[in-house]
Amino acid sequence: MNMQSHSAPAPAGALPKLKPPAAIFALPPLPYADDALEPVISARTVQIHYGKHNKGYIDTLNELVAGTPFADLSLEQIVLSTARDPAHAAIFHNAGQAWNHAFYWHSLSPRRGGFLPRALKAHVDSAFGSFDALNEELSTAATTQFGSGWAWLVLDGTKLRVVKTDNAGNPLTAHMKPLLVLDVWEHAYYLDFQNRRADYVKEVISSLINWEFAAKNLGAA
Ligand code: FE
Repeated sequence: MNMQSHSAPAPAGALPKLKPPAAIFALPPLPYADDALEPVISARTVQIHYGKHNKGYIDTLNELVAGTPFADLSLEQIVLSTARDPAHAAIFHNAGQAWNHAFYWHSLSPRRGGFLPRALKAHVDSAFGSFDALNEELSTAATTQFGSGWAWLVLDGTKLRVVKTDNAGNPLTAHMKPLLVLDVWEHAYYLDFQNRRADYVKEVISSLINWEFAAKNLGAA
């Protein structure tokens, strides 16, 4: 996913031009209509989640990195280089949220989940025993993450694992490769499910997970 736009290089000898903040990182387009995830996730939730929260992280990141060396890095490079740097915590949080949300929208699909691509099956059976066991583990991670965060399916070395992260955390910073993610911040479900996070998680896992995206990220499809 290329989430960074670069303007043309300045001609030799010219002073480098400061890029306007909005031009550094763009809000990636939603891969479907805002009502495509109904009835599980309403259009209203997507409009606010994508159009306000997700956009807000991008806008804030652009303000924070404008005129700094971070403006020339990719989102992933920013996440990796600021993860353990308290002096750049705000940049990490907003870059992490920008990365995680772009990944989250693609982790869902209106074409219904619940179906595991053949290419993933052997990996899932080897790591979890069965597809049901993976779903159970993902559900437990998503419902037990205390406070805001994310539940992930990752490739850790050569094995699939389910992990959870706090706030804007990303398994990339622990040298794991994300395959798919569930957003369990309250803004992801509160309008539709109020405090019933477990119901949001159950519905999303049973009907919206984009397993083909996970297979693609694994390089298995
Ligand atoms: Fe979110």
